[in-house]
Amino acid sequence: MSVAERLARIRADIAAEESACGRSGEVRLLAVTKRQPREAVLAAIAAGVADVGENYVQEAVAKYAELPPVRRHFIGHLQTNKAKAVAAAFDVVQSVDRPEAAAALAKAADAIGKRLTVLIQLNISPAERFGVAPADAERLAEAVRSHPALALDGVMALGPVTEDRAEIARAFSLAAMTFGRIGGTTLSIGMSGDWREAVRAGSTMLRIGTALFGPRSA
Ligand SMILES: *Cc1c(COP(=O)(O)O)cnc(C)c1O
Repeated sequence: MSVAERLARIRADIAAEESACGRSGEVRLLAVTKRQPREAVLAAIAAGVADVGENYVQEAVAKYAELPPVRRHFIGHLQTNKAKAVAAAFDVVQSVDRPEAAAALAKAADAIGKRLTVLIQLNISPAERFGVAPADAERLAEAVRSHPALALDGVMALGPVTEDRAEIARAFSLAAMTFGRIGGTTLSIGMSGDWREAVRAGSTMLRIGTALFGPRSA
């Protein structure tokens, strides 16, 4: 199946899940292109994808050079020593999880005259190393809002790695409640294996890799 065919099928599945919970047209799809070739990125964009995401800035630089107009999202761990490169290569940074990272990113964005849209990364899963605890999210949001070069637009989280669907749903509902307190337009939860639970919890952005592109290269 081609990327375009997979995309059409996923979009139809998302629309059906949305309508099953009384939603309609609220969920965007971010194509996660990590460890996929540039041709896959171009195929997804040609098929209508408007948002693409990468975990490593080094990988994105060549792959995302001179793309048609899309929003490029950084979804990997944000190291302060990579802030300059991240600010230059991306439009949205979804993984701000501590005040130092926000400060480094703001400084880098300022230096190139750019205003970056950012999300706060929440930790809602015991296996996840990164992300701010939901209880500390509002304090981090204040720190982010203190930087004019950053436009806070919501939260991002990775769901727990488990087959227990109820546990996934509980974690996503915690993310949704925290999003409600922070505000913004983007609740980035849900990946290939847990997007249905995410849509039911109120996700406005699904980050889909494998289901769109197939298995990643090693
Ligand atoms: C890899 C990755 C995804 C996509 O995962 P799939 O299971 O392939 O859909 C989404 N978000 C983040 C942060 C990732 O690292």
